[in-house]
Amino acid sequence: MPLSEFELIQRYFSSYGRGASVDLSVGDDCAILSLASNERLATSIDTLVQGVHFFEDSFPEDVGFRAVSVAASDLAAMGASPIGMTLAMTVPEVDELWLHAFAQGMAAASTQYRLPLVGGDTTKGPCSITIQVMGALPTDKALLREGAQAGDRLCVSGVLGDAAGGLAILQGKWQAQPEHAEYLLQRFNRPEARLDLGRALLGSATAAIDISDGLLADAGHIAAASGVKVCIDSQRLPLSEALQSHADPEQVRHWALTGGDDYELCFSLPVSVPIPAGCSCIGSIEEGSGLLCDSHTVIETGYTHF
Ligand code: ADP
Ligand code: MG
Repeated sequence: MPLSEFELIQRYFSSYGRGASVDLSVGDDCAILSLASNERLATSIDTLVQGVHFFEDSFPEDVGFRAVSVAASDLAAMGASPIGMTLAMTVPEVDELWLHAFAQGMAAASTQYRLPLVGGDTTKGPCSITIQVMGALPTDKALLREGAQAGDRLCVSGVLGDAAGGLAILQGKWQAQPEHAEYLLQRFNRPEARLDLGRALLGSATAAIDISDGLLADAGHIAAASGVKVCIDSQRLPLSEALQSHADPEQVRHWALTGGDDYELCFSLPVSVPIPAGCSCIGSIEEGSGLLCDSHTVIETGYTHF
């Protein structure tokens, strides 16, 4: 006998719903979350569709982890502290092996980010995973896309382009050496939301965004929202050794500039603020408008669905 909807929720999605701000979790008609009197709620939602954002043969554990990371990354980009998440899950059938592994991936990310699963919805249909995240922001602070000032430095966390390299390996377009392939696939399959960095930047960075659609596209959003010119020096892009093992440096540069799915943070920082550990300066903010890369105006940028 396949599990009923309620047994399924009970078995796989009811055990990682506790947290400091969670007054009521999975099981009732709503979850109840509390905010301190000097806090505001930040919320965002992301959907992963099978065949578009992950493959039928993707490891379900990776799908679960990645779905949480992708959503939590938006909290990181705002400087918000995680409170909880909800899951709207559509699956074609009750496949317990798949569900078990998927839930394990979600639980791992939930623990890592201290982001409890407080509710959701379970339906039958073509496989897709939607996660809504909720976080707390102080009433007087947030990291927005607007706010970058002429004279600021443009910075990014970590290294760029790894997820695009990993995707190329998955698609059979690149046969990287095994140790490099393992690292790059991990970067694609299990991206990590930079929540600690986001919180640390709150109050010091003037603008921030997470890199989900590629550096050029996302830095372009900062330029547009802030009404400034964003200048990128591609020589300064931080690259992993694994990505640089690719024979064509132009391909590597292209991945670092336009590859999506890295979920690093891109932010503008006044010169008075030290660059945080693990981050690099890759350019500058100037008066004007638009996006410049190596002094060329950028028109085409990252991935769009339509
Ligand atoms: P309702 O019909 O009142 O919307 P449901 O029967 O859909 O409630 O869900 C029952 C409880 O289980 C609710 O607390 C809901 O938030 C939770 N829930 C349903 N699906 C999931 C899921 N996939 N993950 C976590 N919680 C879920
Ligand atoms: Mg109800």
